[in-house]
Parts: sequence; C-alpha cells; structure tokens
Amino acid sequence: MARYTGPVCRLCRREGKKLFLKGERCLTGKCALDRRSTAPGQHGAANKKMREYGIQMREKQATKRYYGVLESQFVNYYEEANRKEGMTGENLICLLERRLDNVVYRMGFASSHKEARQLVLHGHFTVNGKKVNIPSLIIKAGDVIAVKESSRDSSKFKALAESAATANTPKWLEVKADAMSATVLNLPAREDVDFDFNEQLIVEFYSK
Ligand code: SF4
Repeated sequence: MARYTGPVCRLCRREGKKLFLKGERCLTGKCALDRRSTAPGQHGAANKKMREYGIQMREKQATKRYYGVLESQFVNYYEEANRKEGMTGENLICLLERRLDNVVYRMGFASSHKEARQLVLHGHFTVNGKKVNIPSLIIKAGDVIAVKESSRDSSKFKALAESAATANTPKWLEVKADAMSATVLNLPAREDVDFDFNEQLIVEFYSK
C-alpha cells in the first residue's frame, strides 16, 4: 500500500501542531516545529486566515497523519464510526485507537506510530497467541498483544521493554513490560485519548 515517504516534520509544520511522528526527537529541542513554526513552502510564513472549510480540513488531515492512515482508509473509518451508535467523532477516534499499530505504540513498545507499524509489519507481535502482521487490525476487549517469542531475546526488544516499563500507558491497557505483553482491559473511550483533536470538525468536514 502507498505510504507518505516525504519529510514528516513538514506535516507537523503544515498542521501547526506536534504530531509526534519522529519518536524521541519530538520531545527534544531538535523538534522542527519548535524551531520553525511556520507552514512549509515559499508562502508558509504568510499570515493566511483560514475559512471554516480549511479549518475542518486541517483537523482531518492532522488526525489522519497522527495515526499514519491514508485518506481512503480514513474515510472507511469515518463511515464505520457513522454507522455505530453514539457520537460519530468519538467513535472515529476510538476506532483509530484500536488499530494494532496504535496499541503497540500505546504499550510503549514503539516511539512513534511509524515504528509501531514497522514492527507489526515485520511480524514481531502476536494477538491472542497468533502472529499478526496487519497494522490496521482492530483489537477487541480482552485481547492479549505480545512480542513474539522468538523476538524477545533481541537487544532491541529488551531495550523497548525497559522503556515500556516507565512509559505512561493508558488505563484501558494492562501492560506487563517484563512479559512484553499487554491485555486490553476495555475499549478505549474518547477521554482516554489525551491528544488534542477536535473530532467535531472532522464530522463537519465529511458531513458537507
Ligand atoms: Fe513533528 Fe516530531 Fe518533527 Fe517535531 S520532531 S516537527 S513533533 S515529527
């Protein structure tokens, strides 16, 4: 599947907010957005006033880029969220949170969504004991996500387990860093996601 392969810091500068696409670097003084907060491109520094449509579109783009999802996949998530009972925007964020690559990221076993996606694609994780290499797999309550047995002795995963032991993990996940696994205690709720989204703008964007 096609992926965005350009410089990712440009995406944060375009959206005007940190999307945490580069792992540890995002938390240091090397963050490109901290050093240069204007949008990329020749006219990036121009103070352009956005219209309602532009604001909604930027929120949709920021959310999509934060989770590393392409437009067509994002539209599918939106449609599924819209079919479910409850608030479409909240359903959308909760669905995106349930992607396997996001769960690996939330477990603290990857420093970015991109790294989590790669680790899953390379088959380093199991769900309920079965090897899975589908980053978009939607996890369910009670699922157990773990590092594959044969990957556990690698220095990379030992280091990841050490950092996961001190990571700030969400309350819907019970992470056992030394066992390199996590159990989904319940499905994530909107208030469990502390990233600064305005999902209502996304709903307005697609409702036009
Ligand atoms: Fe975004 Fe991270 Fe780059 Fe900062 S370092 S601009 S948060 S990807």
